[in-house]
Amino acid sequence: MNAPHTPGQTKVDQVRLLIDGQWVESKTSEWRDIVNPATQEVLARVPFATAEEVDAAVAAAQRAFKTWKDTPIGARMRIMLRLQALIREHSKRIAVTLSAEQGKTIADAEGDIFRGLEVVEHACSIGTLQMGEFAENVAGGVDTYTLRQPIGVCAGITPFNFPAMIPLWMFPMAIVCGNTFVLKPSEQDPLSTMMLVELAIEAGVPAGVLNVVHGGKQVVDAICTHADIKAISFVGSTEVGTHVYNLAGQHGKRVQSMMGAKNHAVVLPDANREQTLNALAGAAFGAAGQRCMATSVAVLVGKAREWLPDLKVLASKLKVNAGCEPGTDVGPVISKRAKERVLGLIESGIREGAKLELDGRDVKVPGYENGNFVGPTLFSGVTTEMQIYTQEIFGPVLVVLEVDTLDEAIALVNRNPFGNGTGLFTQSGAAARKFQAEIDVGQVGINIPIPVPVPFFSFTGSRGSKLGDLGPYGKQVVQFYTQTKTVTARWFDDDSVNDGVNTTISLR
Ligand code: NAD
Repeated sequence: MNAPHTPGQTKVDQVRLLIDGQWVESKTSEWRDIVNPATQEVLARVPFATAEEVDAAVAAAQRAFKTWKDTPIGARMRIMLRLQALIREHSKRIAVTLSAEQGKTIADAEGDIFRGLEVVEHACSIGTLQMGEFAENVAGGVDTYTLRQPIGVCAGITPFNFPAMIPLWMFPMAIVCGNTFVLKPSEQDPLSTMMLVELAIEAGVPAGVLNVVHGGKQVVDAICTHADIKAISFVGSTEVGTHVYNLAGQHGKRVQSMMGAKNHAVVLPDANREQTLNALAGAAFGAAGQRCMATSVAVLVGKAREWLPDLKVLASKLKVNAGCEPGTDVGPVISKRAKERVLGLIESGIREGAKLELDGRDVKVPGYENGNFVGPTLFSGVTTEMQIYTQEIFGPVLVVLEVDTLDEAIALVNRNPFGNGTGLFTQSGAAARKFQAEIDVGQVGINIPIPVPVPFFSFTGSRGSKLGDLGPYGKQVVQFYTQTKTVTARWFDDDSVNDGVNTTISLR
């Protein structure tokens, strides 16, 4: 916990909670600074909400559910239509704040917002997405149909790396299905998330339908164990995601836990060389490698080994600078702690015998000497036992492995404990088809480096990257945020024939 600001220090804004439609100053004594990772400027302070404040947020959501669940679909959809228009209108303004608190470039911050906006657009079609099914005459004069009903108070816990997209994966779909929501944004960069929440309120989300509490482990654990919360959507590291999944599961909740990654790009020698190298450099070093779908392992197959020098040249040309500066390719990592961790892993790679082809440790950024910068870093000669391979580095570090065949590459990817994203670069349809069939990874890109699905599909993941069987957007999330009720109905005419007593289980 950082010390509260003392008199004499520059006054910084305090982030508020949103409870029952009211913006509330937290009564907590525990605050944390939100720090610009390029400058260390304190942008604001975020409270770690008290247990009473979490309870008040859940209670407000529980009260609001009574009426919100019966609000007509059209009314819910129209709020989403207004929200998408407001996000478009304010996107550039939000992107500036997002870049300042998270470090990514302005263009990438706009992309972060846009990928979330797409989910809000999809939420506008809830009328068709939430439809049930109907079968006429399942027995004589009997029909069966399903209702997709909201489940109650749902909660979302989000990571620092996409402060716009990931909250927008969660609350719009949850509330448009008729649920109410408690959001717990990342404590590292909640400002842009809060701007989106303000727009949701402006769009007409009623009091109590969307609530926000801030904090860390204590608040997350309070959400996971709260008796009145029915479902939790978590996105973050595997360690925390597993904890959330287990704890919330023990307390009877539906949970989807989208977790860490080690994404392999497999490069066959028949691939388009320039396009592939551009894709690798962009996906490995863009957003300073802090995307769950970042390429962090390149697997060069056969003669594609010879492309390494070109990759190194390309990576060395990327411009490291503050995200707000024009022409920046690689911004800072989120915190000093994150930088220390990345540097520690680079050291471990050297110690364990990998070849450091490109060293980003001592990068200097004029005007931003205090920034948490790490330049693009490239290792070759990496083996699967090394920590730089076994751990998610979450920084601008690409490790290169070499194999002889596509079969070996597939086996390598499938042996890695994570299964978030992967890519194959090739001009061969047969190779691509084999890869997509045999690879055990949630998101597969064929000549696409970051294959994040658009919102009419669902984000997914396998093995160490995901727990729970339904994804956070698309049709799957409508299932996650609703429960199915089946109705089997028969209506009698006044003159219908008396069938007598049926003592069997059969419908007739
Ligand atoms: P994180 O796990 O540290 O934090 C995620 C959330 O959990 C935050 O809201 C945080 O406050 C809370 N939290 C942190 N420590 C906790 C604890 N001990 N107990 C309970 N809650 C805790 O993740 P991060 O560093 O913010 O985000 C980066 C991670 O998220 C990476 O591993 C990345 O791969 C992953 N990620 C995954 C996806 C996906 O869809 N699979 C998407 C984005 C990010």
